[in-house]
Amino acid sequence: MDYYKEGYGNYMNFHVLTLFPEMVTQGLNTSITGRAIDKGLISLNAINIRDYSKDKHNRVDDYPYGGGAGMVIQAEPVYDAYVDLSAKLYSKKDINNSNKKPRVIYVTPQGPIFNQNMAKEFSLEEDLIFLCGHYEGIDERVLEMIVTDYVSIGDYVLTGGELPAMVMIDAISRLIPGVLNNDSSSEFESLHDNLLEYPQYTRPEVFRGESVPSVLLSGHHANIEAWRRQEAIKRTLERRPDLLPEANLSKKEQELLYKLQEEEDVTIQPN
Ligand code: SAM
Repeated sequence: MDYYKEGYGNYMNFHVLTLFPEMVTQGLNTSITGRAIDKGLISLNAINIRDYSKDKHNRVDDYPYGGGAGMVIQAEPVYDAYVDLSAKLYSKKDINNSNKKPRVIYVTPQGPIFNQNMAKEFSLEEDLIFLCGHYEGIDERVLEMIVTDYVSIGDYVLTGGELPAMVMIDAISRLIPGVLNNDSSSEFESLHDNLLEYPQYTRPEVFRGESVPSVLLSGHHANIEAWRRQEAIKRTLERRPDLLPEANLSKKEQELLYKLQEEEDVTIQPN
């Protein structure tokens, strides 16, 4: 399979170590990520950890030492899958880079929670390996040997790491140039600049008696831009005030924020 591409940060090779590769490929081969794969902007290489089992029944899990509920994925098949993949990745690269280790993200409820800044940082890599747990998780020893990042998608527990890996791959892919039709569209949406996006409207102009805000029909780009920034600030104050201290606001926008806070009787300390 030709999943490996040389490049300079304008593409991404995603590798997913999982017990359910078809779940990941079926999900991501659809819609925008699917088109990005077809266009060669990203690649997806889902590797079945079970293929590395040495057990005659292809088992990869066993009971936890010390007792307790559930099963644990064994260290060896995960380690072997990782070594095989790393050899494929790095044999193609500059020999001077042979000490470089691939970035391995273990998706786990025990990590910091994934956010847009992490997506941006990950999008600068050439290869990312996602390791998906199942059952009670994975033997700690192999995690210590290969994992570089522990990342959660939220404070709840899922049955497996496939959905979290897909969530992260989707968010990272949108930041790869060319994946979205309009390259600027990931720059002006929620969480860029630590603001939520302004409200969006499309046809018809009047829906059940409710009109689109008139400024959006004015054709006056500067006014539209100013209205959108103002609505983004208002909306962030209403829905995610925790983001505002890190928001990048002009002096005028900070004054607007103070005014809105006074009206709402909320206090935020912008930077
Ligand atoms: N026993 C583990 C614990 O308490 O931390 C939870 C295991 S969970 C049932 C099985 C797998 O699902 C985990 O190994 C992890 O890969 C994935 N997973 C579950 N919840 C997750 C979350 N919130 N974020 C990322 N991965 C998660």
